[in-house]
Amino acid sequence: MAARLMVAGLSMALACLATPTMAQQSAPLKTVATTGMVGDVVARVGGECAEVTTLMGPGVDPHLYQASARDVSTFQQAEMIFYSGYSLEGQLGDVLERFSETKPTIAVAPSSIDTGSLITVQDVYGIDPHLWMDVSLWSRIAPTIADSLSEARPACEAQFRDNAEDYVAQLEALHQWVTESIASIPEQQRILVTAHDAFNYFGRAYGIEVAGIQGISTSTETGVADIREMAQVVVDREVPSVFVESTINPRTVEAVIEAAREKGQEVSIGGQLYSDAMGEAGTADGTYIGMLYRNTRHIVEALGGKTPALPEALEEWAARWDIASS
Ligand code: ZN
Repeated sequence: MAARLMVAGLSMALACLATPTMAQQSAPLKTVATTGMVGDVVARVGGECAEVTTLMGPGVDPHLYQASARDVSTFQQAEMIFYSGYSLEGQLGDVLERFSETKPTIAVAPSSIDTGSLITVQDVYGIDPHLWMDVSLWSRIAPTIADSLSEARPACEAQFRDNAEDYVAQLEALHQWVTESIASIPEQQRILVTAHDAFNYFGRAYGIEVAGIQGISTSTETGVADIREMAQVVVDREVPSVFVESTINPRTVEAVIEAAREKGQEVSIGGQLYSDAMGEAGTADGTYIGMLYRNTRHIVEALGGKTPALPEALEEWAARWDIASS
């Protein structure tokens, strides 16, 4: 009698355990992403099966970002964490490592992009982390994210795979469009002068020379010599426009413009580029596709090129944000 009761009690206990697990399985997976460029891909791939909280909003510099008490609680509540990696989130290293002991914590770039595709730099970091600037490389994080999400929500696996495939197709079209757009700039003017070295992958992928006034990470200081050196490049190459960045104080770029002017070269600000953060959420610029689209438009228009019509694969994206595709 006592034994049978125990069995009954045990199966009731199992039923109680099973019920919340089932509920948990059907609720959207709670994920946290560090930057918008990571978070947007997680959102596209995750669809209705995942919800994404992105820590760093528009204008936030990931090189310098430190976790607040609120961020730690956000990490605590998450079921899965995605971050860019290669020391982009330099100040979050300890926090991410700590959470990696208790929940899946995925560095999307190192998990997806082969080391042969990386740009190495003379810097404390050794590897340039700005991989989202090459759309073709960044598209490789989508299948990795689909794998990770599928582990936690196997019932949604087919959906994750379909979403990743659709999104990769859009990114391939975007890559092609950026390539053609940059190629339209007259060769002599195909040089991108920006505040910090975020555009090396962009330059390599799309055939434009890049020169950042500050190094790869914004945590190093810019000196007078850096300003003078860059002004000389601007003068020598007769660069018509230089660019400020959304996450960086524009004063170094303004100093270069001033120094170039003293040497007799008039140069304008060609617009603000999104380097390490996307634009406002709820706008075209607040999407990864929009970030690359807007940057390319600014660069091409300021340097004397012309962007072609958007490809068919991006028509849906363009219509959603009311952007003319031609
Ligand atoms: Zn950067």
